[in-house]
Amino acid sequence: MLGKLYIVATPIGNLEDITLRAIRVLKEVDLISAEDTRHTLKLLNHLKISKPLISYHRHNEALKTDILIHKLQEGQNIALVSDAGTPGICDPGEEIIKACIDCGIKVIPIPGACAMVNALIASGIDTKEFAFLGFLPLHKKLRKEKLLEIKNANKTVILYEAPHKLNATLKDLKEILGNRQVVLAREITKIHEEYIRGTISELLDKTEGVKGEIVLIIEKNKVVLEDNLFKELSLDEHYKMYEKQGFEKKEIIKKIAKDRNVNKNQIYQYFISK
Ligand code: SAM
Repeated sequence: MLGKLYIVATPIGNLEDITLRAIRVLKEVDLISAEDTRHTLKLLNHLKISKPLISYHRHNEALKTDILIHKLQEGQNIALVSDAGTPGICDPGEEIIKACIDCGIKVIPIPGACAMVNALIASGIDTKEFAFLGFLPLHKKLRKEKLLEIKNANKTVILYEAPHKLNATLKDLKEILGNRQVVLAREITKIHEEYIRGTISELLDKTEGVKGEIVLIIEKNKVVLEDNLFKELSLDEHYKMYEKQGFEKKEIIKKIAKDRNVNKNQIYQYFISK
């Protein structure tokens, strides 16, 4: 019989944030696959669990996926954990999960802590619709594209950020988005847990030298929504927005004309004259 892969969420700071089910699964599996075995060993020692560990991180994902699939096919049950929070969310996991699905191996999530969900619910910012974009890319062009995506998203946006990159990120956000409302959630579930609220400019002042783990929650662009979502976009930005959503050129031109309440030939002329 095939084994099962359990994706087990672990605490993001406070060790009490692990579920009874997660503890039972960690006790019952044959093997634990961990992002950093030394890190996970500390949690297992705290829980008084002794289990064989195998490392599974970004740099050995392909190789270790084959090894783990082989073990699952032999009938072993495996728990996948990352250093903190939910595996697969800005953490390794995707490769082994896809491989299991391809091989008909059951993948079972064991829910628990995730920094972005907890930052969002404590932020006080609209939770009805949101987009989680992980870490902003460092590559200049890709970063600009993501920043424009945030500018045009008419929903709350969640980012992860490292403290030493926070200042540069807030400056970039201010340049592209203007002075939007933001909440910085820091050290969630830990001793120095803190929520810093304000406009991007205010946050630039309030967060100098800030340390620890950080999530940024960015409010949607209310002004644009209440007024006219598309008036703020250039025609090119408007075009790119639909292109990213997978629309073809003809459809995009129609959509832009409708959004702006103008004749579609006008829009067509603009794009062929370029
Ligand atoms: N898998 C994790 C999860 O479920 O949230 C995320 C892993 S990602 C490599 C690490 C990033 O998550 C950190 O740089 C920070 O942005 C965020 N993070 C993790 N723990 C956090 C905490 N206790 N407080 C605030 N942010 C946290």
